[in-house]
Amino acid sequence: MSKSKYIYLDNAATTPIDPRVIDEINKHFLETYGNSSSLHSIGQKAGQVLLKSREIIASFINANRDDILFTSSGTEADNLAIFGVASKNKERGNHIITSSIEHHAVENPYKELEKNGFELTFLPVDKYGLIDLKDLEDAITSKTLLISIMFANNEIGTIEPIKEIGIIAKKYNVIFHTDAVQAFGKVQIDVNDMNIDLLSASAHKLYGPKGVGLLYIRNKGIREGWGKFIDPIMYGGGHERNMRPSTVNVPGIAGFAKAVEIAKEEMEGESKRQIKLRDKIIKWVTENIEDTYLNGHPTQRLPNNVNLIFKYIEGESIVLDLDMEGIATSTGSACSSDSLEPSHVLLAIGIKTEDAHGSLRISLGRFTSEGDIDYFLKKLPPIIERLRKISPLKKKN
Ligand SMILES: *Cc1c(COP(=O)(O)O)cnc(C)c1O
Repeated sequence: MSKSKYIYLDNAATTPIDPRVIDEINKHFLETYGNSSSLHSIGQKAGQVLLKSREIIASFINANRDDILFTSSGTEADNLAIFGVASKNKERGNHIITSSIEHHAVENPYKELEKNGFELTFLPVDKYGLIDLKDLEDAITSKTLLISIMFANNEIGTIEPIKEIGIIAKKYNVIFHTDAVQAFGKVQIDVNDMNIDLLSASAHKLYGPKGVGLLYIRNKGIREGWGKFIDPIMYGGGHERNMRPSTVNVPGIAGFAKAVEIAKEEMEGESKRQIKLRDKIIKWVTENIEDTYLNGHPTQRLPNNVNLIFKYIEGESIVLDLDMEGIATSTGSACSSDSLEPSHVLLAIGIKTEDAHGSLRISLGRFTSEGDIDYFLKKLPPIIERLRKISPLKKKN
């Protein structure tokens, strides 16, 4: 692969860090090395940076500053939301409603809870990946403790009707968690307007550092605090208001806040720009390559997500061939791993197993140019043609 041209179209897996964020982090690694819990001035300085970061990030989602808890990842935020609420509120009920297309960071904690006496409802989705609000309302019982539906899907980009889900959760007085790791920084989020009680996000999905996440926890009344609502899942020192021990990653968090500031500034323009590129890929590929179709919703999808099925071939082969041309993409097919099952998300939207193996996810980002897309669209067709020629599945013409 040539070093000069590497086209990164896998921004849903992780994003390259923005150079402006690197500058911010470097500054804090050098200047703000104190422990934010210490009494001395360099510790207090770190405490101030932490406070300011909390403020910037909270205002981005219309939350209160004190309702943002920093974690080491989106996965940790999901685990804390799920196990923390389940542990604290088990007297209220043991029933939890989620969707059948959640990220593994949500799906697998729920499977653990299921082994431990919790009752789970995994709501089906339609062919676009949308849950049905009537299904949700019908599933609620007097034992329902938590509704957990992702904001936007990481594979097919579908954006769920979050505000409508929030209305239902509020009506039945059920706690509402959303895994917003993919949506955060790409679409408008307002935790009050949307009645969200818990929200997970991760810096590395919006050009921030890896290993920094957050959980928004709606403060159930000033005097009650988090402890009335959620149990910790780790025990140690008293950092992050006794809810999450371990020394706070202040430089990383300052980088997260910088990434949020940039997103706030550039989101609207970037969204328009990426939607144009996204739709250009979808239109060109489905019009020019036969036996190919789009997964997910045509419009109610993330600005940067394209997910296509190329019938008769393996997504993994396409990814590897594109990589040889210096283009990074990903697939929901998993033929080389232990399981032969393709992505649970593709199966949940009704894609046949044999088709699901031919999936390709192309996820755009801030650093994707139109030239990158043109290059991709030039390199893709011969790869598909070659793979289909050698495919045993290719239909006889
Ligand atoms: C990436 C991702 C996660 C995991 O976040 P990490 O910070 O990598 O742990 C969780 N949920 C969704 C929807 C994601 O896309």
